Amino acid sequence: MSDYMFMLESHMRPQQFAVVQQVQAAAEAAGLNVFLSGGAMRDMLGGFPLQDVDFTVEGNPAKIVKALTAKDGVTVLSENPLRKSWELKFPSGVVSEIGMAQEAHYAKPASKPVVKPATIHEDLRGRDFTINAIALSLNRTSRGLLIDPTNGQGDLEAREIRTTGNYTLYDDPVRILRMLRFKARLGFEISARTQSQYENVREAKLEEKITPEQLYRELRAMADEPNPGLLIETLEREGLLTLFSPTINGAKLNLAGHEKLLRLRQMVPFGAEFHSENLGLFLFVLTENLTPKEKSGLVKFLGIPKADLNAMTKLDAASKKLESTLKSAKLNKASLVYQTLLTAPGEQVLYLAYKSGQRLVQDRIKKHLTQYLPGVLEITEQEVSNWCGLSPDDAKFAQKHKDYILGRLDGRIRKPAPEPIPEPEPPPSGRMLRQPSAARATR
Ligand code: ATP
Ligand code: MG
Repeated sequence: MSDYMFMLESHMRPQQFAVVQQVQAAAEAAGLNVFLSGGAMRDMLGGFPLQDVDFTVEGNPAKIVKALTAKDGVTVLSENPLRKSWELKFPSGVVSEIGMAQEAHYAKPASKPVVKPATIHEDLRGRDFTINAIALSLNRTSRGLLIDPTNGQGDLEAREIRTTGNYTLYDDPVRILRMLRFKARLGFEISARTQSQYENVREAKLEEKITPEQLYRELRAMADEPNPGLLIETLEREGLLTLFSPTINGAKLNLAGHEKLLRLRQMVPFGAEFHSENLGLFLFVLTENLTPKEKSGLVKFLGIPKADLNAMTKLDAASKKLESTLKSAKLNKASLVYQTLLTAPGEQVLYLAYKSGQRLVQDRIKKHLTQYLPGVLEITEQEVSNWCGLSPDDAKFAQKHKDYILGRLDGRIRKPAPEPIPEPEPPPSGRMLRQPSAARATR
């Protein structure tokens, strides 16, 4: 296995790596070359948490999509016929995009491009930023070969965002929003030439050509950013927030609300069993200080789809049941609070922590996030095995594991004493390097 394939496997969740293998097999069967591209490569090489698994195919990926949907239980979430790209959802929940390698020609700045099929090299050269223009071959004869025609790896190391060409931001001005989003996310600098390209594009007011559809796609992407408030602040400072709504400024920015939500999201321990749909919550906080008229103006202008809107407007009603369960006197044990919150949708949990006026509800959620979840993460299979005497392969082990967790949360089962650390071997011969009593005294 090449180093990069090995790196891929160790950076990805097993479900993501399974998707890579499935797509690779489907492409091989269809006789097409396929490459892992875009964000996945940037995140893997930059050492960031890997989110998307996107693929680029030399040729029309329709055949691959057909094979995947026919027998692998994959569903199509969206399709872009102009760019020949599909957004797919795998049964494991992994969402992935598969698109045709292409070259886009823009007759004038911000015009609709003419798209034609291309090689992977040509495709990468036409992408937005060098750090996003790296691909990995998944094909039999060149598997694991890195393709990096614009030296994205160098820019990842230098922590710089650089456009792939001199007209990148002119051709498709939505890229200025993408640029600021990546800057806020990664904390990278903008290269000097890219900064002057940006200033020229702003001078020509090309940002006004960004379509409402593109703006809404960006807004959706903001919801999943680690720090959306920072991005909103940046957009405001750059005078770009007015593209979304002329009235979101000053107190209406609700930076305090974004900060509060961020702090709550950061309470969720890494690796814990907690899933939240960010969009509804983000839209809620974004529009919290707007008047009903301003809100409906934003919704209409951006063409926010009904389902996304519902995720925001129904959050309050949807969380009511959870709120009344959480304030109930019956929930008098840690294990009951834990079980209630473990199965609740994460966005409702965060919404209540953000908004509920009930002190008890707030306290129970905070305890769940900052004490119960981290405590459960520390429990090892070995510990459960020692307690119940079953091996993890035993069919009854999963139930025992649950019993153990609940017992530990309620203090019925005590945390085992740490294994004694073996005494270090004495030096083979000669004098002692350090007096043991002195070492103890300095501790
Ligand atoms: P994220 O982690 O936010 O998903 P990403 O880099 O994967 O980041 P996507 O929006 O998923 O971003 O797009 C996938 C890839 O497609 C990008 O990495 C980039 O190479 C390319 N791309 C997307 N939008 C554009 C654009 N407007 N112009 C040029 N290239 C683009
Ligand atoms: Mg992506």
